[in-house]
Amino acid sequence: MCNGKNTLVEPTVADCASPRNRYDGDVSDDYRQLLDATIQHLEGLKSRGIRHVAVAPETLRALALPAKVPAAHFQSPISKTPAPPAVKTDPTISMPPKKVSASTPVAAAKSEVSNLKIEITSSAPEKAAAFIALRDRALACVKCPHLAASRKSVVFGVGSIDAQLMFVGEAPGADEDEQGEPFVGRAGQLLTKIIQATGLSRSDVYIANILKCRPDTPGQSAGNRPPTPEERATCLPYLQEQIDLIQPKAIVALGATAVDGLLGKTLGITKLRGNWQTYRGIPLMPTYHPAYLLRNQAMSEKRKVWEDILKVMEKLEMPISAKQRNFFLQA
Ligand code: URA
Repeated sequence: MCNGKNTLVEPTVADCASPRNRYDGDVSDDYRQLLDATIQHLEGLKSRGIRHVAVAPETLRALALPAKVPAAHFQSPISKTPAPPAVKTDPTISMPPKKVSASTPVAAAKSEVSNLKIEITSSAPEKAAAFIALRDRALACVKCPHLAASRKSVVFGVGSIDAQLMFVGEAPGADEDEQGEPFVGRAGQLLTKIIQATGLSRSDVYIANILKCRPDTPGQSAGNRPPTPEERATCLPYLQEQIDLIQPKAIVALGATAVDGLLGKTLGITKLRGNWQTYRGIPLMPTYHPAYLLRNQAMSEKRKVWEDILKVMEKLEMPISAKQRNFFLQA
């Protein structure tokens, strides 16, 4: 709780308490009172099982130690690992960074809910903290008791929270449920290839689903089903919050469930694909789900999806080579 960089830190009372005792003679009464109140608050949180807290930069500044106290004593292990850059800056393969300069400090926030150690980095500390808080809420969600009972993971989402481009799919399948990450099965591998064909990687974009739990199939050991309207409506607020925090410059909605889930009942994916829509003020491109491309191997269908992606690349002002323009065109 005592480092000056991270915004989401563990309420480890010992970290704060022992240096306080050590430097009792060096700190003012005001500072000691502030520290006592903070420790008391953290102890309360810890006793209620809370393992991470979001801390506003002003609060951290207010807690900053007097100059005499070596700051190293007050750093949690989290702050010792330099956070990786949040935004790629190689212009040949990445989109223009989103309002971030090379000197912008990068904040890292960690969550260990469900033993899943993840680190979220962002140029904006409050955003990283809000994202972790949202993720922790989603991971503990039991609003659909049948799905909470059958799931192995809540598949929250993956990628950069500073991404300019977001992909939204339907719901996790068996592989995603197993691994806790969206789009890692066969359809996911195809999506990864599509992303890479633009020159980006999975970590440059953000990938999520309409539904964060695998739809259950009672009595069946395998198979998938689309989410019900009730499940979609229950889960949608998490995705909306993800989108509101990330604020991508474009969203690609993959397949009918994603399109209808975000836009409400539409004309249908066949009519809508390739035509820009708007979701919460953000341009949204409907296209076919990669699973459809696995079922229908026709070059013409692959080309349709690629044309939709080219429109997205144009919208994001990404460089497009002649080779990229011609993918999946018949010779
Ligand atoms: N299909 C989806 O829509 N989402 C996934 O995460 C995997 C497959």
